[in-house]
Amino acid sequence: MARTIVVIGSGAAGMTAASTARRTDPQARIALVTEDEHIAYSPCVIPWVLEGRTTWDDIVMHDPEYYRRERDIDVRTLTKVTSVDLDSGVLVAGEEKIGFDSLILATGGNVFIPPIPGKDLKGVHVVRTVNDGKAIEAGLQGVEDVAIIGAGVIGLEMALAMVELDKEVTVVEMMDQVVPRILDSDLASQLRTYLEQKGVRFIMGSPIKSVNGDTAVESVTVGDESFPCGMVIFSTGVRANLELPNQMGLEIGSLGGVRVSPSMQPYRRGRLVPNVYICGDVVQCESAVVAGPTMSQLGSSAVRQGRVAGMNAGGGSSTHEGVASPWVSVIGDLQVAGTGISSGLASYYGMDVVTGTGTGHTRARYYPGGSPMTVKVIAEKSSGRLLGAQMIAGEDVTGRINWLSAAIIEKVSVWDFISRYENAYCPPTSMVRDVAFSAMEDLASKI
Ligand SMILES: Cc1cc2nc3c(=O)[nH]c(=O)nc-3n(C[C@H](O)[C@H](O)[C@H](O)COP(=O)(O)OP(=O)(O)OC[C@H]3O[C@@H](n4cnc5c(N)ncnc54)[C@H](O)[C@@H]3O)c2cc1C
Repeated sequence: MARTIVVIGSGAAGMTAASTARRTDPQARIALVTEDEHIAYSPCVIPWVLEGRTTWDDIVMHDPEYYRRERDIDVRTLTKVTSVDLDSGVLVAGEEKIGFDSLILATGGNVFIPPIPGKDLKGVHVVRTVNDGKAIEAGLQGVEDVAIIGAGVIGLEMALAMVELDKEVTVVEMMDQVVPRILDSDLASQLRTYLEQKGVRFIMGSPIKSVNGDTAVESVTVGDESFPCGMVIFSTGVRANLELPNQMGLEIGSLGGVRVSPSMQPYRRGRLVPNVYICGDVVQCESAVVAGPTMSQLGSSAVRQGRVAGMNAGGGSSTHEGVASPWVSVIGDLQVAGTGISSGLASYYGMDVVTGTGTGHTRARYYPGGSPMTVKVIAEKSSGRLLGAQMIAGEDVTGRINWLSAAIIEKVSVWDFISRYENAYCPPTSMVRDVAFSAMEDLASKI
């Protein structure tokens, strides 16, 4: 008899898992249940929709009817799953009970909002879904000053989008640098200087104390300073959505995500749960760089994990190995990217590291249109093993960070990289010796 696979969640992880399960088992009955109204879109593009570079309609790639017609997947939107009974294999979705042979849980995460006064006032927003983006767009009418809380990548992308919309923008960050945790302070200060030149004001090293107003946002207090603003956007990090995992009694890991095996199965009372798979922002997975878990919480990781979950739920066999979590962000005319761990994270893990920095150009120096590029690499001092890389330039960082990611995942040393790794060259795309090699040589000279 055909197996029934139910997927909960229509983000990158859930949609990928459902489609992969279909490819793996063409006979299965597959249903996907989601609280969301829209499916098959990437929230990563929201800042650029707000800027006006594309539209809400264009970013939603498919509707439920497409999945029904093309992939025989029964997608139910605006439906919350309130409980899952693992013993009987039945879940409650809205008013309905649905039985399953295999379950894929891809319930993502929620934006963490600190418990401060005024956090529920009208004009306070988060950025997570198309509807969040539309609410920001509608709320911006007549607003001149916007406060962005959190100077992570999403906060900075939103800050620049607001600048493009001619808003006065203040970014509040409790740490003393932008993109804390994943970017080193020297590259972070380049990024901050660029944003300041674009007109963004920063209040650093202080957490937000309160959002103020009677019914709607009028001002924000940070430390001893209050400043007026008509909209507050929290980009203060994502916490795994543990509502269903907790109800199901799944084990939660030390970083606050659901603990999973390489097959993307959760644990309950110390044992793997059969026929249940879990993927995306809700899980903590293994790091490829340091021994132990990490919260990857990237769209690219969600897709990789969703493929493994979908394949296994469909009767195939696949495993998810450790992640280096490469990331990239476009902030105005700058591209910034990283992979592996930053110097800050290395010191959190008690690792003794050496760093190397190279500067150069994205194209041959004489070829018009290139931009300056800085590459920084981080290696373990005792072994020279590459642990992380970061870069900032006006173009073309994605290919380079993917290249360095591969080296980090393969546990290559800085000397191996210099002697064995090659770069493709053409004057309009790179220098004949890529800037990454200057960074590696700087690092090697220090060990
Ligand atoms: C503004 C922004 C920019 C980003 N930029 C990037 C980027 O450039 N690169 C990158 O790699 N990543 C980026 N990310 C992160 C990336 O989008 C997430 O890692 C990814 O979307 C996570 O996918 P997910 O499927 O795990 O979770 P989600 O997308 O959160 O999906 C969870 C789904 O579960 C559903 N759900 C939850 N509980 C229930 C329930 N009880 N019943 C039914 N349905 C339920 C929700 O409705 C939702 O459909 C960005 C995120 C944002 C918000």
